[in-house]
Amino acid sequence: MQFDPTDEQRAIQDTFHRFAATEVRPRARELDEGRAFPRELFRKAGELGLFAMRYPEPEGRGADVVSYVLALEELAWGSLSLAAACTMQSLMGTWFLHRFAAPAERERLLLPALRGDKVGAICMTEPDAGSDLGAIATRAVDKGGRWLLTGAKTWVTSAPVADFFTVFARSGEERKLTIFLVERSFAGLTIGRPIEKMGMWALPTSELSFNDCFVPDSHRLSKVEGDGESHLRKTLAEIRIITGAMALGVSRADTCQHSTPSRTVCSRPVTCTLGAVYLILLYWTVPVCQLAATSAASASRAGRS
Ligand SMILES: Cc1cc2nc3c(=O)[nH]c(=O)nc-3n(C[C@H](O)[C@H](O)[C@H](O)COP(=O)(O)OP(=O)(O)OC[C@H]3O[C@@H](n4cnc5c(N)ncnc54)[C@H](O)[C@@H]3O)c2cc1C
Repeated sequence: MQFDPTDEQRAIQDTFHRFAATEVRPRARELDEGRAFPRELFRKAGELGLFAMRYPEPEGRGADVVSYVLALEELAWGSLSLAAACTMQSLMGTWFLHRFAAPAERERLLLPALRGDKVGAICMTEPDAGSDLGAIATRAVDKGGRWLLTGAKTWVTSAPVADFFTVFARSGEERKLTIFLVERSFAGLTIGRPIEKMGMWALPTSELSFNDCFVPDSHRLSKVEGDGESHLRKTLAEIRIITGAMALGVSRADTCQHSTPSRTVCSRPVTCTLGAVYLILLYWTVPVCQLAATSAASASRAGRS
């Protein structure tokens, strides 16, 4: 079985490989050491169409999930920080606005975000709720025409620089998850301390909290109160494929792959010393993973994820 990209998929892959090779990879270390959000490269990724790629026209570019996976693999080869920032923006940070936001918010927030001029973030995880979405405790109480949000979120990618936040909170008597759009300017939203990570330092991540934070009903993204969990689960399935593609990009960036053929150990080529199993892993794993990622993306496109 072999992956044969279409002409469009190949063109998108080439575009993002060139961008990564010329503008991202040479600056990857500097970006991480500087620990600042890579605003300029993020905008450039937007100009190249990454954030709008998987959305249908006219707002989006109407490309398929495989193209999107190939683009992010290339970006991760350049810089994982930038690729992860772009993934959150193009997938979770804008997805629920694209599906459900009112025309005014589409114009004001979604369209600039698809160009890379505004940053969106997603708030699911809480100090006591990670994989277990059932443990989410942030509350939204209907106050007649507006909602009162109370609670705390953590691990929010891009929170220190984000312009808007998609927030999952429990509402109604059944306390099901409802999706809200919270803008950075809203009173009662506090961006907390940044979280120190082991890597991806150019991608800021932090806690945030809602105290007496009123959200207008126009910013309730759930069309049906309490429908948030099913929408969230579908998006989480897709981000797992993208995470695999980014891991693949990073593995290709491993300098070991590039230096190994010319290295010698004890006067012998290192490839003779390493043994067959290691070499198989080194040279064959990447194509096999590539096939797995693109197959998963194709399956997701066909609705079989
Ligand atoms: C770099 C980074 C960026 C992130 N960005 C965001 C973001 O933008 N927005 C956001 O909301 N969240 C974000 N997260 C949080 C992420 O979604 C959570 O880390 C994830 O949901 C897992 O939750 P947890 O870390 O609390 O682990 P836990 O849920 O506590 O899991 C701990 C361990 O238990 C295992 N486990 C959990 N449940 C089960 C089970 N039922 N059976 C067997 N094993 C199980 C897990 O596999 C894991 O190994 C981010 C996390 C990281 C690391």
